[in-house]
Amino acid sequence: MTQGEIEGLSIITEQAASRLEKEILLDIVRKIKINSEITSSAEWQIQRLRQIGVFDEYIKSQLQTYLKITEKEVENLYRDVVRNEYEKFDSIFKETGVTRVPFLENEEMQKLIEAILQQTKNKFLNITNTLGFTGIQSGKKIFIPLADFFQKTLDNAILGILTGVFDYNTALVKAVKEMTRSGIRTIDYASGRSYRVESASRTALMTGFGQITGLMNEQTAKMLGTKDYEVTFHVGARPTHQIWQGKVYNYEELVDICGLGNATGLCGINCYHWYIPFVKGVSKRNYTDSWLEEQIRKENMIKEYKGKEYTTYTALQKQRSMELLMRKQRQEIVMLKEGKANEFDLIAAKSRYRSTMQQYTDFSKKMNLPQQNDRIYMDGLGKVSPGALSKPKRKEQNTGVFKGIEIPMQKRYVEIFAKKYGVRIDDMIVKIQRNEELLNLFFTGGTDYDQVGRIDLFPNAFTSEEQLIRTIIHERCHVLQLRKYGKYYTQENLEKMEEIAYRFEEFWYNIVRRRVQQ
Ligand SMILES: [Zn+2]
Repeated sequence: MTQGEIEGLSIITEQAASRLEKEILLDIVRKIKINSEITSSAEWQIQRLRQIGVFDEYIKSQLQTYLKITEKEVENLYRDVVRNEYEKFDSIFKETGVTRVPFLENEEMQKLIEAILQQTKNKFLNITNTLGFTGIQSGKKIFIPLADFFQKTLDNAILGILTGVFDYNTALVKAVKEMTRSGIRTIDYASGRSYRVESASRTALMTGFGQITGLMNEQTAKMLGTKDYEVTFHVGARPTHQIWQGKVYNYEELVDICGLGNATGLCGINCYHWYIPFVKGVSKRNYTDSWLEEQIRKENMIKEYKGKEYTTYTALQKQRSMELLMRKQRQEIVMLKEGKANEFDLIAAKSRYRSTMQQYTDFSKKMNLPQQNDRIYMDGLGKVSPGALSKPKRKEQNTGVFKGIEIPMQKRYVEIFAKKYGVRIDDMIVKIQRNEELLNLFFTGGTDYDQVGRIDLFPNAFTSEEQLIRTIIHERCHVLQLRKYGKYYTQENLEKMEEIAYRFEEFWYNIVRRRVQQ
């Protein structure tokens, strides 16, 4: 199996986990919102128990959905996918003249599959029984079971509002922040470690799959009369796997060298490697040693991004963590919307998301890695933030004499930044002047006195986000003046108009600036 195939195996389970998380989080938000209308703490004491009961009911039904989806997926994976892999060996059996029983008649395999199915089902049940959040208590990270978290969050929010410690919006934002920081987790009480439900679901599924395919591989090898296996290769393998991938080993070596059976080794957690029986003299290796060496050299070459150094592996790690961050930021937006948070907090959250998205695109491009957008959207939250920024594609840097100018001198970017800061340009005509002599001017833009509504942006307006936004605000002020007073009066009072425009610029820039602060 290829890396992509292995990665694809757990996608449905991860989606189910993501959906479960979304439903739980949104329900907590809804409860805060409904109860924020309560006017006395006596009334809250009465409502409290009822709310907790209703929450339990809803969550129970969500957990059932999650279990049903995962159970079906586990069945499918352990029976159909394994069978498919089993039958892939048909050709080598033919070539070697050895016969073996068909998949369904392979008793040892079927028995193991049954046992592992049960074991995995229990693991998923255990995940749903140990849900909660991580929180900080006197500087230490602690795990709070779901019911306790719900109670505590609701109490804090409602009592906070009732006693006037904070208003509804502040209570909501506080709760949303706390929830997104942690995400729904499941705890392993034995080790005390907690995991995101997504990754716990993935691990549960893949562990069982590994156990079944392990037996299949070993059986097949025995029948073929070989002790050897070839390990697959994939781009961006972690350093400890990089050294052994793509080569042929006997079983003992798979354990000793590749760490088969170990969580950090071959077929362990987050490993996308795979091994198949290899018959010397019949099978042909997929990679030569020198090709593998060259590949490692290339992947380990350092690339720099914003002062930090990356290899292919660490760049992929960085990509994954940005994808997770974006999923959290998308959740935050959806929760704030659900709770009807004020516009200011919503804009700030959207802007944080857009900014990560922009960095992600930029980083992927510079590292020459494909963007994995389906990893971001697997949360099922749909289109969260309408952002022109989410899809900058073409090569859009300034060239020639304008090369040092930070923002691409293009209409699209003017629109993107105007939107980002919430500055109106839709009632104006914006022209960009690309004359290199304008570079020497102190002015960054101009307003047309004959064609009222038209503003011109000079190259120096594009030196920074701030400069661009200031210029648009400033020129827009002149447009408004022209519309209000007409060309004649405005030109007669140029100095005064200019003074007003500078004050207008200062005032508005300081307001819109806050809309994008993080
Ligand atoms: Zn691996």
